[in-house]
Amino acid sequence: MPVDYHIHTKMCGHASGEMEEYVASARQKGLREIGFADHIPMYFLPPAKRDDSIAMKEEELDTYVGRVREIQEKYYPFPIKLGMEADFVPGMENELKAVLKRHDLDYILGSVHYLDGWGFDNPAQRDGYDRWDLYELYRRYFSTVQKAAASGIFDSLAHPDLIKKFGIRPEGDITEIYEDTVREIAAAGVCIEVNTSGLRVPAGEIYPNTGFLQLCHKYRVPVTLGSDAHLPQQVGAGFKEAVDILKSVGYTKVVTFTGKNKNYYQI
Ligand SMILES: [Zn+2]
Ligand SMILES: [Zn+2]
Repeated sequence: MPVDYHIHTKMCGHASGEMEEYVASARQKGLREIGFADHIPMYFLPPAKRDDSIAMKEEELDTYVGRVREIQEKYYPFPIKLGMEADFVPGMENELKAVLKRHDLDYILGSVHYLDGWGFDNPAQRDGYDRWDLYELYRRYFSTVQKAAASGIFDSLAHPDLIKKFGIRPEGDITEIYEDTVREIAAAGVCIEVNTSGLRVPAGEIYPNTGFLQLCHKYRVPVTLGSDAHLPQQVGAGFKEAVDILKSVGYTKVVTFTGKNKNYYQI
């Protein structure tokens, strides 16, 4: 079994279980390596507007890093990496960099969860889809993903087609949008994440979809693998299917990171 590079902790306010339980679950399933990548504070909002049930508080960031370091020592030599999942918000790049440079990280996952402040993956804000022409919405979402890639801030782009989470998709072909996006990702030299949490939501398929992943392979974009676990039992969930899809489009390796340097793990 390969590696799971997208694991949350209860510090983000919407995951549960102890970090030790996530590690135990990983080892029980035969994973060779894991990485914690919890939601960093909502740096893009003034402190009074931040929501503790979406991301850790500002003052918890150092605690999070300290806890991962403790767990690394406790389970040595089992490899546990220090990552973070960071929202990309256009125009806030400098604020984000200031948060991220406070710690030596193994890797940073970049996520687009907001479009002009609309949390489109939040079930409570699902009616926001009604306000959009879906083709335009997808274009807008993927152009934000392209900007995230070009920012150079991230090591891997998490769940790159998250906009499909509720299964709300435009009719007709959007290959052109995908291809523009993948070209930009390839030019930026960033990885994309194959994220199995799509199997647990109405979309009912891994992020990204197979067509997008085929383009990633065509343009030689490396991939990381993550379950987006918010519960210990979700660690490694759906990985058999993910590995099958990766192999079917031609991938033989996934990327791991040590202090931002890439290694390749044979799948
Ligand atoms: Zn989360
Ligand atoms: Zn996410």
